[in-house]
Amino acid sequence: MAKGERKVMRVLRVLLQPIGKNEWQLLTKVALLVPQFLPFAECQVAPKSLPLPPGFVTPRRQWLADGLLAQLLVPNGYDRVVGVTEVDLVVPPLNFVFGLAEKGGKRAIVSVARLKDRHLKRTEERLLKEVLHELGHTFGLGHCQDPNCVEAFSNTLADTDRKGPGFCPRCLQRIWTAWQQEGKELLGGGEFLR
Ligand SMILES: [Zn+2]
Ligand SMILES: [Zn+2]
Repeated sequence: MAKGERKVMRVLRVLLQPIGKNEWQLLTKVALLVPQFLPFAECQVAPKSLPLPPGFVTPRRQWLADGLLAQLLVPNGYDRVVGVTEVDLVVPPLNFVFGLAEKGGKRAIVSVARLKDRHLKRTEERLLKEVLHELGHTFGLGHCQDPNCVEAFSNTLADTDRKGPGFCPRCLQRIWTAWQQEGKELLGGGEFLR
């Protein structure tokens, strides 16, 4: 390492962006839990909810996930934005989606609509898993074959409940590598400076 250069661990700054009405308590709790499973991440909840943009709702009262995702902006000071909404999301021809992410991008969206349980803790855990899962996709991860890994595909709520909130070591390593790579691209290669 050249003199004066110092390798620093860049913090991944994640913003949970409420879209439409949301339970703040739930989002705040999930934001606190994210760094437990992505150790280099910080997660905050945006202070203001975004309105649900009209025009993306289907006759079945579901909202087009890709339409809402396209409306999200990553604010200055953040590396990822995850929209959180209570409306049901869909990507036709599927019946619904729990969430959607730009693979290798910076934006994702998740829906709480199908995650609610009368036990708040269960709802929290499900939302945490969906947020982490979609964040994994933003680092280019596909679905993991390890059924306990949070990056395993969830077709049903039972799948979501079965898997853990953590990434398997392989997925976590891949996220970390992709994140380091992203930093190098940002700074034009080489060491990290600050
Ligand atoms: Zn997925
Ligand atoms: Zn995995």
